[in-house]
Amino acid sequence: MKAAVLKQFNAPLSIEDIPEPMVEPGWALVRVKACGLCGTDLKISSGAMPNVKIPVVPGHEIAGEVLKVGEGVTNIAPGDQVVVYTYVTCGRCRECQEGWDNLCANLGGILGSTLNGGDAEIVKAPAANLIPITPQISFEQAAILADAIATPYHALRRRAKVEAGQTIVIVGVGGLGLHAVQIASALGLHVLAVDVEQSHLDMAVKLGAEFAINSAVGDPLEAIFKATGKRGVDVVLELSGYPEAARNALSFLLPRGRMVLVGYHATQPFEVSSKTMVSKELEICASRFCTRQDLVEVIEWVDAGKVNPIIQETMPLSQINQAYQKLKSGKVLGRLVIQI
Ligand SMILES: [Zn+2]
Ligand SMILES: [Zn+2]
Repeated sequence: MKAAVLKQFNAPLSIEDIPEPMVEPGWALVRVKACGLCGTDLKISSGAMPNVKIPVVPGHEIAGEVLKVGEGVTNIAPGDQVVVYTYVTCGRCRECQEGWDNLCANLGGILGSTLNGGDAEIVKAPAANLIPITPQISFEQAAILADAIATPYHALRRRAKVEAGQTIVIVGVGGLGLHAVQIASALGLHVLAVDVEQSHLDMAVKLGAEFAINSAVGDPLEAIFKATGKRGVDVVLELSGYPEAARNALSFLLPRGRMVLVGYHATQPFEVSSKTMVSKELEICASRFCTRQDLVEVIEWVDAGKVNPIIQETMPLSQINQAYQKLKSGKVLGRLVIQI
């Protein structure tokens, strides 16, 4: 089968024929139709993720059609159209049992990171990780549900503890952020978007942000005060992953405000003033990826028209290296999706 293989860090992917995976009991093979491209793919290909061993097939936003199922599989059947949850979880630990499968204590790997992923004609996944999509959702849209939509959904629904009427600043309106804007608006929040790329901000406004703040051309704190008429906001959703941005974003918060970290830097810490934290009773929490249940719910949200998947462009597998270059440029609006 054709696959894009990461054989060397900081080098183009190699498009080649590799053996098809063998189906095992409890697992299934999926004929991949679409796979989204994420900023994490750039981290993986640069060698910044210490757990990733090469060679590996990247791609963790996967949608396709079930091709074959292993022994004992009853939840899905060949021909089913599915989106793939990419964390291989144990199903038995405390986190799995309580529905926090994104935090599984016995994580068996991540498709597209430590295990082969979706930038290939076929991917092997646990059957329990395949979630049926509805016919209204295309494979391209379904692919990006798996991370670009479900990750900000998890952050806003499970971690941010937001209430309608509150004000949120979303820092970074790229692939995740443009969906975060829509989810936050649907939850009744007043949304302010911060980014350094004007085209991203213009799109954020079209999708429901009330104010767009370009932090490359002015002081975002001043702009936030001006926009809100108050000295801050209730919640910050930090998606950029830049330590400096996270540090600055703490100053956007009103007393008792909460910052939710989704973006992260693989190695660099960010500085926090304990005095600021204590004097304003601030909270910092973090949000990792999404759960299976989040994925089920975002399918309903997309069906209901509450979130519209933003796809700038689809490209064939043969052009995946050009797609990586485009994403690196920082200009992509929403997601690029590889069609396979
Ligand atoms: Zn991702
Ligand atoms: Zn577990």
